[in-house]
Amino acid sequence: RKLGVALIGLGGYATNQLAPALQQTQNIELRGIVTGTPSKIPVWVEKYKIQDKNIYNYENFDKIVDNKDIDVVYIVLPNSMHAEYTIRAAKAGKHVICEKPMAVSVKEGQAMIDACKKANRQLAIGYRLHYDPFHLEMMRLTREKVFGKVKLVEASDGFRAGDPNQWRLKHALSGGGPLMDVGIYAIQGARYTVGEEPIYVTAQEFPKTEPEKFKDVEESLAWQLYFPGGAIANSFSTYTTGVNRLYAAAEGGWYEVNNAYGYRGQQGRTSKGPMEITPINQQAAHMDGVAKAILENRPNNVPGEEGLRDMKVIEGIYEAISSGKKVKLDLLK
Ligand code: NAD
Repeated sequence: RKLGVALIGLGGYATNQLAPALQQTQNIELRGIVTGTPSKIPVWVEKYKIQDKNIYNYENFDKIVDNKDIDVVYIVLPNSMHAEYTIRAAKAGKHVICEKPMAVSVKEGQAMIDACKKANRQLAIGYRLHYDPFHLEMMRLTREKVFGKVKLVEASDGFRAGDPNQWRLKHALSGGGPLMDVGIYAIQGARYTVGEEPIYVTAQEFPKTEPEKFKDVEESLAWQLYFPGGAIANSFSTYTTGVNRLYAAAEGGWYEVNNAYGYRGQQGRTSKGPMEITPINQQAAHMDGVAKAILENRPNNVPGEEGLRDMKVIEGIYEAISSGKKVKLDLLK
């Protein structure tokens, strides 16, 4: 049996990545949409044969509780709306896939986990790279200590944010700048490439080169994570230019992915030569993987708890920037 999913928020990621990927999935299929923009409905109905009874707006969304076609709700809204819609979906008895960052604070993230637990539904975060073969290889090289113990990770993610009016630059909708949006991939990369949870963080915000455009959020920042085994991860995130890498220096060699966090075009290499890996559709693999876990009634690979650890690091980074001090992290609590 295939699970039915409804996408909430028919913006760029839902339209250009998730809906096309759902045409390739084995365990889950696109059956519903939730949108506040009626003009989008005919386009989606025509393209994906969405039935009238599976179309909702933000006001009547809670009626989805009565809809047997929909097993999973996938939240693809601006970050500050993730908590509200996750909790409403859980209350409606649906499993939830929620985009990254899971929320804009640890407090919200915890409330989302609690709501899904209470409803006995799964919560999965949109961490597609946990299903990407290049990143699975980075995790394997670390886990099996193929090049020995990792000593240093460099993980950075940034891009040039064009439109000055986009929600990503409005703190009330985004919760923060490039750290919330893409820096979170560098946090993820550092955590799974070191293979431990960080215990301290230091961080720096850089002066703004376009203060008017970035009046509400940071423009560029850097941080360092300190791991219990002595490894350090150094990271950079920015809205000024493209940077996209994950590099591990281990005792006996190195391994890396360039264009690390992109949807496609990854290049993996180790100190012994190129990674021989065939790219896959990350979004299809992620949704199929989560759906399989739900169908088999076992935990998924990217649960709310995983999202919450990144929220703790993000809050630690902001605290380290405002205090100028090294901040203690406790991700396992
Ligand atoms: P987008 O701006 O393209 O789409 C946002 C959608 O939310 C639009 O359909 C918009 O109409 C709707 N919306 C509802 N209320 C809104 C409001 N008050 N203000 C603005 N928009 C509102 O954004 P996107 O790039 O699709 O990002 C959506 C979410 O997906 C974000 O949380 C983002 O971090 C995440 N995302 C994840 C990936 C990934 O690779 N996993 C990639 C892109 C985006």
